[in-house]
Amino acid sequence: MEFAQYHDASGAIVIPDRTTLVDFVEENVSTARKDPAQDGLIYRYMDYSRSRDGEVQELLWSRFGDRLYAIAARLQQVAKPGDRVAILAPQGLDYIVSFFAAIHAGLIAVPLFDPDEPGHHDRLHAVLGDCAPSVILTSTESAAGVRTLFRELPARQRPRTVAVDAIPDELGSGWTRPELTADDIAYLQYTSGSTRVPAGVEITHRNVVTNVIQLFDGLGLSRASRGVTWLPLFHDMGLLKVILPAMGGSTITVMSPRAFVQRPGRWVRQLAEMGAEEGVDGVFAAAPNFAFEHAARRGLPRDGETLDLSGVTSIINGSEPVTPASMRAFNEAFTPYGLAPTVIKPSYGMAEATLFVSSPRKDDEAVVIHVDRARLNEGVMSVLDPSQVEGNEDAIPQVACGYIAPSQWAAIVDANVDEATGEHDGTGRELPEGRVGEIWLHGTNVGEAYWGRPEESQATFGNLLTERLPEGSKTVREFGTVPDDARWLRTGDYGAYVDGQIYITGRVKDLVIVAGRNHYPQDLENTAQEASDALRPGFVAAFSVPANQLPIDARNGAEIAADDSSETLVLVGERAPGAGKADPGPIADAVRSAISARHGVTAQDVLLVPAGSIPRTSSGKIARRACKAAYVDGTLRGGHQQTAFPDLPT
Ligand code: ATP
Ligand code: MG
Repeated sequence: MEFAQYHDASGAIVIPDRTTLVDFVEENVSTARKDPAQDGLIYRYMDYSRSRDGEVQELLWSRFGDRLYAIAARLQQVAKPGDRVAILAPQGLDYIVSFFAAIHAGLIAVPLFDPDEPGHHDRLHAVLGDCAPSVILTSTESAAGVRTLFRELPARQRPRTVAVDAIPDELGSGWTRPELTADDIAYLQYTSGSTRVPAGVEITHRNVVTNVIQLFDGLGLSRASRGVTWLPLFHDMGLLKVILPAMGGSTITVMSPRAFVQRPGRWVRQLAEMGAEEGVDGVFAAAPNFAFEHAARRGLPRDGETLDLSGVTSIINGSEPVTPASMRAFNEAFTPYGLAPTVIKPSYGMAEATLFVSSPRKDDEAVVIHVDRARLNEGVMSVLDPSQVEGNEDAIPQVACGYIAPSQWAAIVDANVDEATGEHDGTGRELPEGRVGEIWLHGTNVGEAYWGRPEESQATFGNLLTERLPEGSKTVREFGTVPDDARWLRTGDYGAYVDGQIYITGRVKDLVIVAGRNHYPQDLENTAQEASDALRPGFVAAFSVPANQLPIDARNGAEIAADDSSETLVLVGERAPGAGKADPGPIADAVRSAISARHGVTAQDVLLVPAGSIPRTSSGKIARRACKAAYVDGTLRGGHQQTAFPDLPT
């Protein structure tokens, strides 16, 4: 086991009060400096912006140390403990070094976007206003873009912009080791903003160090494992991927999201090449669900090219609902190239828990079950026998997200919510296996607060379980019990346990409740998608709208009383390529009748919009609440183009 000294006799992860991320990085850097034979590669960046095959940039441990000390020393000259240091740089080695340098300086890092990437500006301004950094780290290339962001502010309020590549190595001798404890904040991880303006989770050293060890334990990683990532570094999953090698001493190849989206075969090829390197003990990666289908469709090797994926051990599929179709497409495409059936790891995680919550074990294949729709909507996982699934429209596939990581606890909870007001009193009771409830988490990887939001922090992180399941219940975990007065995180996700594995059924805030019955939006969206080829795959949003907020042309001539706030179902779908001018009437009719037949609910409005209209987050997740707001205020109907996300190809 890696990190053996941070596990107690029961296997629980225990981080001493004075241990920080800085200690782990220091140890790796100083080992490399003392002995050139130990000075291996930590990061390789594949830059595809100028060449189709990519230019290689490599960073050895000793060089990583040089840059870290120089930038950290500079930061210590211009900032004081507690200050936030935002990283606003393009994906690349400067970004990664900047992040670690801010932490090495004893300050609070805030990993943010590439300022030159179009479409992020609204979100960027919101987040910058929220964390009020005193320094921005960037590259010389992007410094002008950063300065224009702050043009409007009076000079005294503008943060200092530092181009890290212009800092000379010699400054490094001025670095002093910061006085830190495990409970100091290492960085702010902003949530994706799928349901609200992104919130900055305060991630302490203890949180991140615990979560990295949980990832090593959960996925069976070792120092000899290798990683490949194209995920944006500002996203929790992308960030943890580059923290793993810095703490665990391994190596990772990084590329940009754009390089992957344009040619997913680049990622696949790197996975294979890493696996073929000498002494490598397995290659791991992570990506959201859409990427598996995208790679299967567009990432196969060209005629005559060889590809050997037998060295790949695990690819996390997480951050969005996992679909059997995407996993199947990936497996079918790459099994002929040696991909093992155990590679795809459907996993659950979130910023509030640093990142990682659960995944299948190293040698397990992903489990897909089918449950009955009506029972699911009532909150019960009624698992269907495989013989009941074929041709059964009420059989809904559910993908298991594996087992909760060591030293972490997830309870399925009936939260005490006042039905009339929607208010929550901060308590709940644990539900048994097979029942759907809100997922609550506890563990030293779970954060304690959002930056600058005391009320939301208390409501999210400070909850109490008033009734636990008895000892010995299947869902009560090993590694000791959680004290009765422990604080739990409300995740805002519904889920259930079946056979000890956790299933994520959908977001609480997105649940569609019409005429007293629950419907999961992704289930409705899936039906709509199947009903018409004219809808762009993956770009349909289902949500409920109070009748009195419906736009006039969605009222179908009916009189709606001003106080009629009963919920109605609305579906919005982007037009598929080639369906830009198709008559919306028959498409809406086909969707409506499929929804009514399968779900027993009437779609009040089915609106077709041009590609690019449905709001998504900077990491590409569908934002149903923002979509609903745009629908109600009329901007969606006007053909308004969203610019707040990098669009994905179809
Ligand atoms: P915000 O909290 O700002 O609305 P967000 O919840 O999307 O945005 P993240 O912390 O990046 O921000 O994402 C975590 C969420 O992603 C989870 O709470 C869950 O809703 C969803 N998610 C993650 N993994 C899975 C999964 N395997 N299946 C289904 N949903 C998942
Ligand atoms: Mg969230």
